[in-house]
Amino acid sequence: MRIGAGGESAAGPNCRPADENRKAPERRWQSRDLRLESTIMSQSQVTSIKYAGGRRFYPYSQFLKERFGCKVYKLTVDAGFTCPNRDGTKGRGGCIYCENSSFSPAAGSRLSVREQVDKEKRLAEGRYGASRFIAYFQPFSNTYAPVGKLRELHDEALSVEGVVGLSLGTRPDCVPDDVLDYLEGLARRTHLWVEFGLQSSHDETLGLINRGHTFAEFEDAVRRTQGRGIFICVHLILGLPGESREMIRETAARIAGLGIDGVKLHHLHVVRDTVLAQMHAKGGVDLLGMEEYVLLCADVLERLPPWTVLQRFVGDVQGDSLIAPKWNEGKLRVLEAIQEELGRRGTQQGALYSGPASPPGWADASRKSALIAGKPRV
Ligand code: SF4
Repeated sequence: MRIGAGGESAAGPNCRPADENRKAPERRWQSRDLRLESTIMSQSQVTSIKYAGGRRFYPYSQFLKERFGCKVYKLTVDAGFTCPNRDGTKGRGGCIYCENSSFSPAAGSRLSVREQVDKEKRLAEGRYGASRFIAYFQPFSNTYAPVGKLRELHDEALSVEGVVGLSLGTRPDCVPDDVLDYLEGLARRTHLWVEFGLQSSHDETLGLINRGHTFAEFEDAVRRTQGRGIFICVHLILGLPGESREMIRETAARIAGLGIDGVKLHHLHVVRDTVLAQMHAKGGVDLLGMEEYVLLCADVLERLPPWTVLQRFVGDVQGDSLIAPKWNEGKLRVLEAIQEELGRRGTQQGALYSGPASPPGWADASRKSALIAGKPRV
């Protein structure tokens, strides 16, 4: 599931050389099991963490600036993949909300990967003065191909000057061990994220939305991906049919316990040409208002570890494919409202996190330690 093209724009003059960012990451943790340290984070440890700009959560822009020394812009790429939930391997028709062309500006591009990256890069350079980029392989399942094909596509993207990392949107059932072995090597060459669509930790919901996998399959994929220097992001949709506030809180707590590096949140959208649109037309879908969504986002943030990076709160829908909900408020207002809600509660990200202070799954232990020690400042 990939909704929207996250963008961190505008490069500053202090970017580290791109080659420096391509060096092999230091492997400070290697545990492939999930033995957790016994130390539990204290409330004072959590509340002593300060985020950039007075935020009450850890934004992706801060993470990237800490890591690269400048803002980094995400460029969306369509590498022509399909999805096992559409081609019949796992299912046909896909998830009930899926219409990839509405989610990704790159969907359906006929340009090569290199041409797409180059084109998007020039646009970002012109608009924002950007100079560092992460190529985001977004539409469909971007690890659903033999290793040789993946290597070819990734090499193309990385050959474009200024590309300092890759982000690969995929499904939990699309990371066999040979692909992970290859990605482990790739993570030594570049900054690498794998973004797993999950949406909910509840199997009854996963069945209802026709995901074609279970939460246990997701946990297995995360465990096999961890310990390889790969950053893991999880996509969650808030407001799925049949889900209560308590179920969403449970999903956040389960994710928190897995040592995930990043999360993308989104409210349920109904877009044209989907099963969800048919359900909506029959009156069978309750959608969130912005105020409800803000409350749920605050609930999720409070339960995530304070070092989990928030990559997105609101996704984009391309063109006129959005049916509902149509909020008047823009992305910025939603972000402000989440910030205000956390302020009203007197809390921040991690306030209700009760897990270990140092889960081995975090792909950059030194960054997390520095954050807790209050060192990173942007
Ligand atoms: S997993 Fe496949 S069907 Fe589901 S949203 Fe992603 S691309 Fe669409």
